[in-house]
Amino acid sequence: MISGSEIEKLNNSFEGTSPARIMKWATDTYGEDAVLSTGFGASGIVLMHQLSLVKPGATAFYLDTDLLFGETYDLIDRIRERMDIRLLRVRTNVSLEEQAREHGEKLWESRPDLCCHIRKVLPLQNFLKDKKAWFTGIRRDQSPTRKNTPVLQWDENLEVIKVSPLATWTEDEVWSYIRINELPYNELHDKGYPSIGCWPCTRAVKEGEDLRAGRWSDISKTECGIHSR
Ligand code: SF4
Repeated sequence: MISGSEIEKLNNSFEGTSPARIMKWATDTYGEDAVLSTGFGASGIVLMHQLSLVKPGATAFYLDTDLLFGETYDLIDRIRERMDIRLLRVRTNVSLEEQAREHGEKLWESRPDLCCHIRKVLPLQNFLKDKKAWFTGIRRDQSPTRKNTPVLQWDENLEVIKVSPLATWTEDEVWSYIRINELPYNELHDKGYPSIGCWPCTRAVKEGEDLRAGRWSDISKTECGIHSR
């Protein structure tokens, strides 16, 4: 385990530095135990591309809730063709039918936290239990709840070092990178969806709303629980 003072020192040196340098430090330090999670948002696309350059064949994974948009599944195929990464599908063994039998239909409406817990948090915990470093695409500009995101952070629950190489990047920087490198991205971004999760819990945003306003927009929930427990 890395100490708090080491994290602080590294965070000071990483503030404002390139994501590639941060990823190189993590992959050099933790080898194959450094893995990237992605929900296939714009930040995730940038990170997967950078990881494929820093460490070709490195592992990225996504949480397949069985409720992703068709456009997202289509994007996964295009990423596999374009990037040299090992992209793993991680999911619960609880089918949607079993979930409905056990907890009722449309759990995402009646108890969204439980739905996220079953379909996202538990599979994530299970996948990361023997890993050391976890790359995420979260950024400070995405929402008020993410404005203090550090580059490195010890995750007490998962017992991994959480690495957010794009913490200081802006939405514009992410999209410039995608366009310059002609990377594939989710078609829904062109239809007013800056942040994309499961289809029952995601809508397009209106002008002036923050980037994650379309997630769980009818309720007070703002995070699925994998970044805030
Ligand atoms: S985002 Fe919605 S549908 Fe997806 S796991 Fe969470 S509550 Fe369920």
